[in-house]
Amino acid sequence: MKLKYDLHIHSALSPCADNDMTPSSIAGFRLLSGADVISLCDHNSALNTPFVKKACDEYKIRFIPGIEVNTAEEIHVLCYFSDVDAALEMGEIIYRSLPNIKIDSEIWGEQLVVNESDEVVGRVEKLLTVASSLDIYAVKSECERLGGIAVPAHVDRDSYSVLSVLGFMPDDLGFHAVEMVNPEKYRSFADKKMLPENVEVLNSSDAHNLAALINEDLPYLDDDSALMRLLGL
Ligand SMILES: [Zn+2]
Ligand SMILES: [Zn+2]
Repeated sequence: MKLKYDLHIHSALSPCADNDMTPSSIAGFRLLSGADVISLCDHNSALNTPFVKKACDEYKIRFIPGIEVNTAEEIHVLCYFSDVDAALEMGEIIYRSLPNIKIDSEIWGEQLVVNESDEVVGRVEKLLTVASSLDIYAVKSECERLGGIAVPAHVDRDSYSVLSVLGFMPDDLGFHAVEMVNPEKYRSFADKKMLPENVEVLNSSDAHNLAALINEDLPYLDDDSALMRLLGL
């Protein structure tokens, strides 16, 4: 089975994302661009995953609930789960680990919980973009304890990434997949021992606005992709 994917999308819950990134708009735009499976990965919270799942069910798109954790080292790690409850539990663990900085919406934007009918049903008080007190090892192990798969985000980006913070991917982290902005650069990073051999390379939009959901040239998941396991395929 060949599945076109976009496994890194932000909703109105992320302060840096547009408020019109609602569950039904995200699912609807990705339906139009031909996606078979999408994931919502808001910063440090999974509170909109139940509603994006409902919107995806409505549009017959497969959905993987996720969260983009900002680790203590300021490395972004995507955590993917097979069900919404596990994602919500991870979200609670991460939320408790955040410093108590109240969001100033004038500066940061809003953090909206929006249901599948585009109604705002809640607002998150603590600023979600800051670093958790959990380091990358703890985030990976909490994710795996809940049955999830952890994937370092945009490793080739010059901020909030494994390579920008640590310079290389330590072997003992043991990630089986990485997300890259430019997947064609994987070989050169692996040759320099900055990334491990034989990891799955994912490439998603990291969309923060609807315009970023219009492209139709989405990649396909490999048949042996770890994400296929979460989908039960
Ligand atoms: Zn990120
Ligand atoms: Zn992101």
